[in-house]
Amino acid sequence: MRRTLIALVSALVAIFGLLSCASGPTKEQQLVAKAVEATGGAQAIADLRTVTLKGTAKQWEPEQSDVQGGEMRFANEMTYEAIVDVQGRASRFDFVKNFAYPAPRTFTFSEIVTPTAGYVIGVDSNGRNAESQKANPPAHSMSGYRLATAHREGARGNTAGLMLAMFFSPEQVKLAADIVVQGRAYPAVSYQGFIVAFDPQTGLPARVRTLDYDNIWGDVTYDLVFSDWKKVGNVQIAMNRKHELNGRVISDIQWTDFRINQALDAKRLAIPPEVRANAAKPASGNVPYQWVLRRQFIGVYMDSDNVSYDTKGSQGLRLQEVSPGVHHVVGGTHNSLIVEMSDFLVIFDAPVTDAQSAWVMSTVKSRFPGKPVRWVVLTHHHMDHAGGVRGLLVDGGTLVVGAPGRDHFQKVLAAPMTRNPDLTPRSFAAIQIMEVTMSHVITDSRGRQVMMYVMDNPHAKGMMMGWVPDAKLGFVTDIWSPGPPLPAKPNPGLVAVVNTVKKAGLQPERFAGGHGSTSDYASLARLAGQ
Ligand SMILES: [Zn+2]
Repeated sequence: MRRTLIALVSALVAIFGLLSCASGPTKEQQLVAKAVEATGGAQAIADLRTVTLKGTAKQWEPEQSDVQGGEMRFANEMTYEAIVDVQGRASRFDFVKNFAYPAPRTFTFSEIVTPTAGYVIGVDSNGRNAESQKANPPAHSMSGYRLATAHREGARGNTAGLMLAMFFSPEQVKLAADIVVQGRAYPAVSYQGFIVAFDPQTGLPARVRTLDYDNIWGDVTYDLVFSDWKKVGNVQIAMNRKHELNGRVISDIQWTDFRINQALDAKRLAIPPEVRANAAKPASGNVPYQWVLRRQFIGVYMDSDNVSYDTKGSQGLRLQEVSPGVHHVVGGTHNSLIVEMSDFLVIFDAPVTDAQSAWVMSTVKSRFPGKPVRWVVLTHHHMDHAGGVRGLLVDGGTLVVGAPGRDHFQKVLAAPMTRNPDLTPRSFAAIQIMEVTMSHVITDSRGRQVMMYVMDNPHAKGMMMGWVPDAKLGFVTDIWSPGPPLPAKPNPGLVAVVNTVKKAGLQPERFAGGHGSTSDYASLARLAGQ
C-alpha cells in the first residue's frame, strides 16, 4: 500500500513536472503544489497513517439569540479525544459536552464514523430518536444526513489530506475568486464543493469554505479558518480552528495534543455488525448541513433522515383537530397551530424548514379550499420555529412578530435564498410585517377572534403566546411543552405562561404547544400556586 502510494506520488510529481514544462503550471496547480510543499510534501502526507488528538472547543448559536438579530447564544463548551485511521477513513471522537443552552446539562458520548456507516454511543441530544431510546445502553446508528455531514466536515478539517487529494486530481481543481478577509486577498481554488483559500505568504491553506443554506439567513458562507500551525513529525498541522458563519465565529476549537502514526486499537473504531447492517449510507444531494451541525451545537439534534420527524419513530406530519376549526400540526419535533377563520387561515409558527411549510401549505389547500394563509404569527424568532417562514408566505400574507422583530425579519426576507433546497428563489418584498408590542387581535367576518400576547419571559425577547377565545385554547412554544408531565416545581418559563394568562385576564381550558401536544391548563395553574 505504502509502496504503491509512493510510486503514485513520484509518477504524479513527474507528470506535474512535464505539464509545467509544456505550458507552465496553471495558477491553481501552483497554489496546490505550494500548499502540499508547505504542509510537508506529498511523501510526508502520504505517510500519515493514524492520528490521535485531544481538543477543547466552544460553540455559539446565532439564531437562538435572546433578541431578534442580536448577540449569539453561548451554546456549549467541550473536551474531546479522537483517533483517526487515516487510510481506512475511520474515526472515533469521545466527547464531554457541557451545554449552557437551552438548559445546562452534560452529554458524554462517542461518535464512530466510517465510509459506509456512523454510530453514536451514549446520549448526545435531548431529541433522542426511537433507535436510541430502544437501545440499552443508549446508542444509535447515524442518519444518512449526519453521516454525510461528518464526512464533509472530516474532509474539510483534514488539511493535509485535502491538499494531497487536490494534488492527485488536478482536473477537479478550478481557480476561484480570491477570498478577501479584512482587506487581505487570499487566492483560492474550488474542489469538490469546497473553496480552499491559501495564505499568500506561507502557501498553507488559510480557510476552507462551503456555500451552505441556512433556514433563517438563506445563502451563507461556512468557513473553517486555520491558525496556530505546528509541525508534527514532518507535517504542518493547524492546532486552532474556527468556524465562521457569514464571517461570524460560531465555534473555536483548540487541539492540545496531536500525534501521528501511533498504534490504534481497531476495536474502538468498530461498529457492531447488527448496527452496521441497518445503518444508513451517507446521504447525497441536498443534505441540510447547517441544520445537522447547528442543532448539535445546542444538543437537540434529532438524528433522522427527515429533519421534521424521526423516520424510525413517527409516521410523519399530520393535522390534529384540537377544537372545532383549530388544527395542531403534529407528528414532528416542532408543531404549528392553524386556526380556520370564515374566509382565511391564521398559522402560528413556521418550524424547521420550507419543506415542512410546503407540507403545511399543500395540506391546508386541500383541507380548507379557498382559504388563503393570511396571517403567519411567529411565537419567536429562533431558527427551529421560524426556519419555514418563507414557505408559509409563498401566497402572500402578513407576518406577525413580537417587538422588536420587524427589522430583523425584513432583513431575513430580503436575504438571497438561491440555495434553498425546498423553495425556488422569489421575492418577499410585498410581504407586510406587523410588529406586536403588547397584544393584537385578528377577527373574521363572523366574529371569530385569534389573539396574541407578548410575554415577559426568560426565553426570547418579544416572544408571543397565542389565544383562541372561543376554544379557550392557548398556544405556547419552548417555555412550556404541554403533554409531558410537569416538573415538581415551576420554572421561570412556566411562571411566564401563568403570568401572561393572568395579566391578560384569560380563562384557558387547554394549551397546545410548539413542542409536545396539548394539556389542560389547570394543572399548570395549580403548580404555579394560582
Ligand atoms: Zn426557542
